[in-house]
Amino acid sequence: MPGKILGIHHITAIAAGAKKNHEFYTKVLGLRLVKKTVNYDDPTTYHFYYGNETGEPGTILTFFPWEGIRRGRAGTGQVTAVSYSVPEDSMSFWLDRFRKYDVAYNNPSSRFGEEALVFLDPDGLKLELVSHSGKDDRKPWSADEVPPERGIRGFYDAALTLEGYEATAKLITDVFGYRKTEEHVNRFRFVNPNGKYANTLDLVCLPAGQRGSVAGGTVHHIAFRTANEGDQLGVREKLISLGYNVTPQIDRNYFKSVYFREPGGVLFEIATDPPGFTVDEDLADLGRGLMLPDWLEFRRDEIESVLPPID
Ligand code: ZN
Repeated sequence: MPGKILGIHHITAIAAGAKKNHEFYTKVLGLRLVKKTVNYDDPTTYHFYYGNETGEPGTILTFFPWEGIRRGRAGTGQVTAVSYSVPEDSMSFWLDRFRKYDVAYNNPSSRFGEEALVFLDPDGLKLELVSHSGKDDRKPWSADEVPPERGIRGFYDAALTLEGYEATAKLITDVFGYRKTEEHVNRFRFVNPNGKYANTLDLVCLPAGQRGSVAGGTVHHIAFRTANEGDQLGVREKLISLGYNVTPQIDRNYFKSVYFREPGGVLFEIATDPPGFTVDEDLADLGRGLMLPDWLEFRRDEIESVLPPID
């Protein structure tokens, strides 16, 4: 093997406003804001990271909230649904909550023998809660209105919508170590035995589907995790030998990353587990301050003056 992929590291999406996004993910869903920083390529925009108590890989949904950006279109070549694992008997709790906060949702339905509750975030991003019977001892964040025994434990699965799925399937099995476990009509499920959690991917084949357009309410990219840089660079070498255009390693402060476009058009990232979110804040203080990388610290006053308030 070229280096082990353990499952999903994080997923990054685009929102059309910081305040609404922050309120939905921390208050309604009860996730922890584990890091508040800026988009390193556009420091006048936030970069929010939401996760579980410790912000461990496989729980992290991140957003670039560009104020007033147009709404994108979900379609082929994108991650079109992000699924979270919740405890088995928590669906009625979440349904009550979605009614209370006017969240758009569908009645729970069964998928591969598990109950899935599909709902939309304020920008129309499709999310799911999957009532998951398997063991999942990831520790949810203890939010004001969401007790840990009902709380979101981290990612369960991500769905990629693709015109054709075979080339992507070959990549994730041959290079990433996933195995096909189930299929139903045009949905093909893959599980990565190297990881304990967030190790499921669904490839949804839509040959006549419209191409997605990335903007508000859509996913920008999905990152897969490696335990260390050696494994990451091993995967990178393997991808290059297969003809993929892979970026050099980029330092993202909380992890190191390489990026490439998979055959179905989805932007993939390979990110390292270390150093993680406690590199610049203590565990108890995660998400409290606006954290800037060294090379932006001298612009702090200017940056803070243009970022919109979120509380
Ligand atoms: Zn990323």
